[in-house]
Amino acid sequence: MARYILALDQGTTSSRAILFERDGSIAAVEQAEFTQHFPEPGWVEHDANEIWDTQLQAARNVLIQVHASASDIAGIGITNQRETALVWDRATGEPIHRAIVWQSRQTMPICERLRAQGLEDEVKRRTGLVIDAYFSGSKVRFILDAVEGAQARAERGELCFGTVDSWLMYKLTKGAVHATEPSNASRTMLYNIGEGAWDDVMLDALGVPRAMLPEVQDSSGVFGETDPEWLGGAIPISGVAGDQQAALFGQGCFDPGSAKNTYGTGCFLLMNTGAKMATSASGLLTTVAWGRGGELEYALEGSIFVAGSAVQWLRDGLGLFSDAAESAALASAVTDTGGVYLVPAFTGLGAPYWDERARGALVGLTRGTTREHVTRATLESIAYQSRDVVECFHGDAGLDLDVLRVDGGACANDFLMQFQADILGTPVRRPPMLEVTALGAAALAGLAVGFWQNESDLVTATGEGAHVFEPEMSVDQRDSLYAGWKRAVERSLAWEQS
Ligand code: ADP
Repeated sequence: MARYILALDQGTTSSRAILFERDGSIAAVEQAEFTQHFPEPGWVEHDANEIWDTQLQAARNVLIQVHASASDIAGIGITNQRETALVWDRATGEPIHRAIVWQSRQTMPICERLRAQGLEDEVKRRTGLVIDAYFSGSKVRFILDAVEGAQARAERGELCFGTVDSWLMYKLTKGAVHATEPSNASRTMLYNIGEGAWDDVMLDALGVPRAMLPEVQDSSGVFGETDPEWLGGAIPISGVAGDQQAALFGQGCFDPGSAKNTYGTGCFLLMNTGAKMATSASGLLTTVAWGRGGELEYALEGSIFVAGSAVQWLRDGLGLFSDAAESAALASAVTDTGGVYLVPAFTGLGAPYWDERARGALVGLTRGTTREHVTRATLESIAYQSRDVVECFHGDAGLDLDVLRVDGGACANDFLMQFQADILGTPVRRPPMLEVTALGAAALAGLAVGFWQNESDLVTATGEGAHVFEPEMSVDQRDSLYAGWKRAVERSLAWEQS
């Protein structure tokens, strides 16, 4: 009987492979980094073949580590950096251009054109997204324009478009499968999230031929089998989701109103809204959480651009300490920030402010301000920004949060987690196992092949030993600190003069 589920976690800087056992524990992890290409300022590209090579290498290495063969693996789950767009030759599997990465700003002029055509409301209504270079649609357009003859070839069905999940499935099955699933499709700006189908109006607006699109299947279900050459035998690929949605699943946020926050470079808060497609009046994105049993479930998503990277700035830019983990002790060495607030609007502010011209502000300084105060203000800013998004969840979905589930590198910081609970007035729950994104992909895959029977099987496997941070701050103090944050944000808005 198969002992493992293999999760492939294809991220922005590395390709990882993780083997999960039935009790949710990790048997092996392997990781391989790959090259970031910056052809021009603001452009970010990846070599699609290097993504595949590193992913395959990581997968082979985890099997070697535990002396496992293909028959020990019940199924493969894939989770991936979202929005990154690839175009390849259907017959040969050769990419026709480097992958354009989610962070890349090179398609801003294409988005400007869509805005000029007055498509903003249409895009929101059909795709749940705002017009932005972040999403895949304008990236496909860019590739079809950049490579001579590509448009005609795409129309003849000779080229395939895909996000990273599609690319890995195509490679793993040696071209037998060209598919994706709704959580990834919902980030392309080409997919109608209400209908659960590719959207003709969006395809027309961007001139993307239908013949190049992958087939959208359930997130949990068998997509195909790996070619035996890769891992020594055929293994079903049985679960796929974009990284943030996979983390939502891995956190066990199955019910409407449940939410998670991933504290990494930035923060990504997602709240499950169930079968209801909540639309946001405050600039959150509406996105598909996953497709299961032919039904879509939805989420609201708030993205915070600068979170853990503000801690990196203290470390590398200001040299206040040498290791991010030291920030917790520094922040705890003082009882408050002495009235100091940092607004880390280094690249503008996202939801709910949406101000590209906002810039970072450090306010409330006095002669008594120390590095401890500034460090504390920086960690607190991560929690305040997260509260801003949670306030939008309340307003947009009318759903109350009874606990915030957390993961990501910076959630290791106990000071930050306690302050988050205090400033939200809501408990914060940190699982003992932080590989939540990979676990989510493994869970989708394991449920599809009967490795796990149902969700409760999964929750009991991973729910024990969580650290719950209970709010301890008085309501008065919470309100007064948060009011101070709002005043500080005011100072940072519209700073950059255009
Ligand atoms: P990503 O996946 O976005 O690369 P990670 O989840 O690996 O990010 O988290 C790394 C980020 O978290 C870095 O920006 C780092 O500064 C921050 N970080 C890591 N450990 C801590 C800590 N103990 N306290 C505060 N921030 C931390």
